[in-house]
Amino acid sequence: MTLRTGRHFLQIPGPTNVPDSVLRAMAAPVIDHRGPEFAELTHRLLAALSPVFGTESPVIVYPASGTGAWEAALVNTLSPGDRVLCFETGHFASLWRTMAVGLGLDVDFVPGDWRHGADPEALAARLAADPAHTVKAVCVVHNETSTGVTSRIAEIRAALDAAGHPALLLVDTISSLGSIDYRHDDWGVDVTVAGSQKGLMLPPGLSFNAVSEKALRASETARLPRSYWDWQPVIEANRKGFFHYTPATNLLYGLEEALRLLAAEGLPEVFARHARHAAATRAAVRGWGLEVLCADEREYSGSLTGVLLPEGHDADKVREIVLERFDMSLGAGLGRLAGKVFRIGHLGHFNDLTLAGTLAGVQMGLELSGVPLASHGLDAALDILRTP
Ligand code: PLP
Repeated sequence: MTLRTGRHFLQIPGPTNVPDSVLRAMAAPVIDHRGPEFAELTHRLLAALSPVFGTESPVIVYPASGTGAWEAALVNTLSPGDRVLCFETGHFASLWRTMAVGLGLDVDFVPGDWRHGADPEALAARLAADPAHTVKAVCVVHNETSTGVTSRIAEIRAALDAAGHPALLLVDTISSLGSIDYRHDDWGVDVTVAGSQKGLMLPPGLSFNAVSEKALRASETARLPRSYWDWQPVIEANRKGFFHYTPATNLLYGLEEALRLLAAEGLPEVFARHARHAAATRAAVRGWGLEVLCADEREYSGSLTGVLLPEGHDADKVREIVLERFDMSLGAGLGRLAGKVFRIGHLGHFNDLTLAGTLAGVQMGLELSGVPLASHGLDAALDILRTP
């Protein structure tokens, strides 16, 4: 194996780079998860999580990856055979839909081209065709990590309100929470699904459901089988500062530090930083004469940028060269985008020079792969980064 010096550039759109102070926080000794010190930690954590989700409602923390929180959102709110509306925004929306089908839900999958977000007008049309309110939930991936497209959740909410439709709104924020503006309460979201390993700057292993009053009421009658994912015992145990199973203590230490970092920077500043890095990345992509996968400027992602390669060029080859020569990992094209697209993650613990280094590596990798480049995209990005 080649000896590597310096830090690996982990520029996949999650898991993301973990700040040193978060790593250090996680290195503390494990404590009794039924003792008073742990109870204080839980209370502090739950209070600090609320502003990140933009909610006053309970936030449930699972020792699980995001997929577990997807399942929790469905099994706590729905019953076998319930109709659910999902949007085909990309690979992750497709996986969530597959899970819903597997759980016995009747899924209406609104087709998409993997370059646009969930379409509020398409939703309005489906809701208008459902006067009997047979649709029980609408599932949307806020930021589709496979494409770099951010759906307009406020407009999705407005479409539900305009139709006077009572369906629950379930939103996956796994690659947007802590990176892109998100408001569980203001946008009337019923269940927000999130994970630790992206904007929250933690290793994988924690996931979350923020749960509205309406979702809690739905959980009283929902009949899909649930046990581990059941919200109620967690909410009850959390009141006293505990979990009814063994929590992931050291990840929770890390979470407290990560939430401290986000609060110290300020959420609006965190979102602005991500938007600026995303704009600089798109400037680079265009400077190279390549195409940004996201086709609607209202839906550009602050967390990642999908880059479409010209016909006849293999995106995986570019990633391979970048990894081998410059020790940088880029995101692969997923599902139907395999080989056609690579993804640049620019979220989490990230600054101007991390982005400049990332884009320099991408530019050199493209050149070495023989992809024809129009000009030097890096300069276009630096022009943006130079501006305070
Ligand atoms: N949803 C989105 C938008 C994701 O990006 C991911 C993973 O990257 C998932 C769901 C699945 O989460 P996990 O891999 O943590 O189970």
